[in-house]
Amino acid sequence: MKNTSIQFISSLLILAGCTSQSATIKTALVAADNQKVVAEKVVATKSIADLATILSKKEVPVLCYHHIKDFSASASDYMKAYTVSPAAFADQMKILSDSGYQTILPDQLYDYLLYNGTLPAKPVMLTFDDTDEEQYRIGATEMNKYGFKGVYFIMTVSINRPRYMSKDEIKNLSDSGHVIGAHTWDHHMVTKYAGDDWETQIVKPQKQLETITGKPIKYFAYPFGLWNQAAIPEIKSRGYQMAFTLSTKRDTTEPLYTIRRMLVPGTWSANGMLKGMRSTFNK
Ligand SMILES: [Zn+2]
Repeated sequence: MKNTSIQFISSLLILAGCTSQSATIKTALVAADNQKVVAEKVVATKSIADLATILSKKEVPVLCYHHIKDFSASASDYMKAYTVSPAAFADQMKILSDSGYQTILPDQLYDYLLYNGTLPAKPVMLTFDDTDEEQYRIGATEMNKYGFKGVYFIMTVSINRPRYMSKDEIKNLSDSGHVIGAHTWDHHMVTKYAGDDWETQIVKPQKQLETITGKPIKYFAYPFGLWNQAAIPEIKSRGYQMAFTLSTKRDTTEPLYTIRRMLVPGTWSANGMLKGMRSTFNK
């Protein structure tokens, strides 16, 4: 393309002759620039990573939080698995920052996986499921101390309900640079959908969140982390670019729609969280 551009400019220069028609030359340069842009686009299209390349890339650690609140020693195992205390959450953000980690967002992960985009030396993604209000009140406040940004997967049935985030809070998160993703309407698992369920659980929540944030909603988290092969084309066809599971390994045929996350249990220390993260994601 470059040679063609030079030839193109040369021929226009010859046409312009000795009359020095600078406007013509300028037009030729603009045309050459446009050709260069087209050429770059062609190269970008060609460099989309194939499956083997995506799978060969180092996995980025993605952490997943649900409740951020105090719980008693006698709390159920379920509660302990899905809850971290505000103090533990604060410690975890601090140790990530002190250890040199920088948060990345799904667009960056997508760019890294598909277009070989660059990431910080120690990337981590922080995600929050289920719309709990303390993820806004405590989660965002603690992340802000270190310039961290997170990803909030919203279950739309809960919006504006007591103990959940309001529309304004979701909008505020989005405006502040956090990313809003979809987590269905009412948390039914995608493996059981039939008929109108796709519309109710996947399409309508996406539209509602797009109306709230004014931005496209491109990322999805499976309720309970559960997915099956039948669900992936349904999610893809609705414009979602990536989907997140929980602790299961990414699928070797659909790595973008089975991105693994690590649940951080409430029983872990900040150091334990770092160790768990490094062993899960081989960092
Ligand atoms: Zn959930």
